[in-house]
Amino acid sequence: MANTVVITGANRGIGLSFTQQYLARGYTVYAACRNASDELKASGAKLVEGVDVGSDAGIKKLDEALQGVAIDLLINNAGILRDESLGRLNLDTIRAQFEINALAPLRVTELLAERLTANAKVALITSRMGSIADNNSGGRYGYRMSKAALNAAGMSLACDLKPRGIAVAILHPGLVGTDMIGGYGDITPDEAAERLMARIDELNLSSSGTFWHSSGQQLPW
Ligand code: NDP
Repeated sequence: MANTVVITGANRGIGLSFTQQYLARGYTVYAACRNASDELKASGAKLVEGVDVGSDAGIKKLDEALQGVAIDLLINNAGILRDESLGRLNLDTIRAQFEINALAPLRVTELLAERLTANAKVALITSRMGSIADNNSGGRYGYRMSKAALNAAGMSLACDLKPRGIAVAILHPGLVGTDMIGGYGDITPDEAAERLMARIDELNLSSSGTFWHSSGQQLPW
């Protein structure tokens, strides 16, 4: 049974709920974040602060804090949502989303790959908005493009890690009432984490590299 979990963006939102629920299951949780919230401090997780996943300094902090740690599950959860539309493109926000949503999870996974145990799991928290087939409303260029790029990375990771018995989950949480979307949503962060954890539990090498809604519906690329 997996019992050591590393979670990025653990201070609030879905990442905080993941942290609390894995702790409740008895797992050791390394909670990576830029700044720990009071809820995270109270959780009992092992705090790894100063981890801006988009910066060299943040990656170094994570590297140092996890020296010698055997990781059974890595959850790349940190992400950002900005808004651009045609006629109102902002290349800076598009680049920032690529940096945090696509490059950072790949970089974190590469950093920690050698510390993953045999048969460990890696979860990428992506978005249905990264599905090209599912896009019938347009806009949100940076978010959609960066999450599609993350999905592509997820498939390569699934291929590359399979020989070591490591499976990769590519997961959409649902519309979740967090700060990211102004607090409204179909489900709470706790419900989202619970559902995502069920999908991670089900993950195996045969389903590695496939794209799922937290509800259990497989999503098209
Ligand atoms: P929140 O905005 O509530 O939380 C985002 C988390 O990511 C925070 O912990 C934040 O930390 C962290 N983060 C952002 N930028 C960085 C960075 N540079 N370095 C380290 N951490 C960073 O969002 P959610 O909990 O809703 O989102 C979690 C994941 O779920 C994201 O990947 C998101 O794209 C995805 N998602 C969410 C949906 C929703 O409906 N909410 C729908 C689809 C996908 P800080 O407090 O320091 O900013």
